[in-house]
Amino acid sequence: MRIVLLGAPGSGKGTQAQRMVERYGIPQISTGDLLRAEVAKGTPLGLQAKAAMDAGQLVPDELVLAMIRNRLSQPDARKGFILDGFPRNLSQAEALDRMLEEMGRPLDVALLIDVDFEVLMQRLTGRRTCESCGRVYNIYTNPPKFDERCDVCGGALRRRADDNEETISNRLRVYEAQTAPLIDYYRNQGKLRTVQGVGEIEDIFRAITAILDPIAEAEKEAAEAPPAAGAAPAPAAAPAREAAAAAPEAAPATEKPAAKKKPAAKKKPATKKKAATKKKAAATKKKAAARKKVAAKKKPAAKKKAAAKKKAAAKKKPAAKKKAAAKKKTATRKKAAAKKRPAAKKKPAAKKKATAKKKASAKKKAAAKKTAPKRKAARKKAATKRKAKARRR
Ligand code: AMP
Repeated sequence: MRIVLLGAPGSGKGTQAQRMVERYGIPQISTGDLLRAEVAKGTPLGLQAKAAMDAGQLVPDELVLAMIRNRLSQPDARKGFILDGFPRNLSQAEALDRMLEEMGRPLDVALLIDVDFEVLMQRLTGRRTCESCGRVYNIYTNPPKFDERCDVCGGALRRRADDNEETISNRLRVYEAQTAPLIDYYRNQGKLRTVQGVGEIEDIFRAITAILDPIAEAEKEAAEAPPAAGAAPAPAAAPAREAAAAAPEAAPATEKPAAKKKPAAKKKPATKKKAATKKKAAATKKKAAARKKVAAKKKPAAKKKAAAKKKAAAKKKPAAKKKAAAKKKTATRKKAAAKKRPAAKKKPAAKKKATAKKKASAKKKAAAKKTAPKRKAARKKAATKRKAKARRR
């Protein structure tokens, strides 16, 4: 992971960088520390730098760039670095870009620790540094447990030579004029990330890790992943880093929810996200396939349903036919009944006829009965006449 730490003098770059070294296992490269070491050793470089440093001015670019080139070529910087206090102006930033491009190791992120001017003044005047191990304290905001002694090694705490009021205000002016324009420089490159550098040191650090952890995880995964055939591992890692670094600028460090988001960010680094996306895509494909299967399974079911409906419809149709037939039947019955009805009506007529016939025959019989005695009497009379005639003869 290759990081540039941006921020005014006193913004806490050194303090946070120390924690970042512990967490990510990459060296902090502070040009201020390197220059101070050169001054302490009395090297030609140190002698050249001292005057500018004491005045709160920038050491000439060529000196700083030579020093940086040398430091970046050392083995521990191969796995990454945290640049603290460098670049300090645009020409240094452009030189750094060229240098890293030559090395094939471009910058991942420019992390700005943003702090107000008044706070910077208090911090700078209260700053104390362990002369043995270099640990940084602040008598106002981050005091040692024992006055003027380092908590870690017990070394004596010293106020830096350039941490006096006059030099401090000079350094802040230099920062505003020369270093602050780098914020836009890295913003334009899409590499700028910002944390608010006010509040508890641990909260600020949480905000920083929320930004850097995904990048570190992505890098780690890319390094662990088996290289694709014919592909170098570095380009494989690059897109993941880009994806992680391209995330929006971080929320203020004082916003605890944002800091709490860290584990989630840890869980889903860029490659993991990519892997998750791939998995999601695969899962979606599977789901789609499963849906198709289900759909395919459903289709026959639907067909069955349709068939059943048809059957039902078909069944219904006969039913309807039946109904129609029944209707017809009833209609025919009615018709028949209607036809029969006149027959039924005819019945009385027939009866009438029959009764009339009966009556006629009865009349005939009665008439016959009536006429029979008459005939008998006539026959008797005729017979008596014939008998009288015979007697007379
Ligand atoms: P620092 O410890 O980063 O505040 O730096 C202390 C002093 O070292 C600065 O005031 C400068 O005089 C000098 N210095 C550190 N870094 C640079 C740099 N990148 N370019 C020029 N001068 C620097």
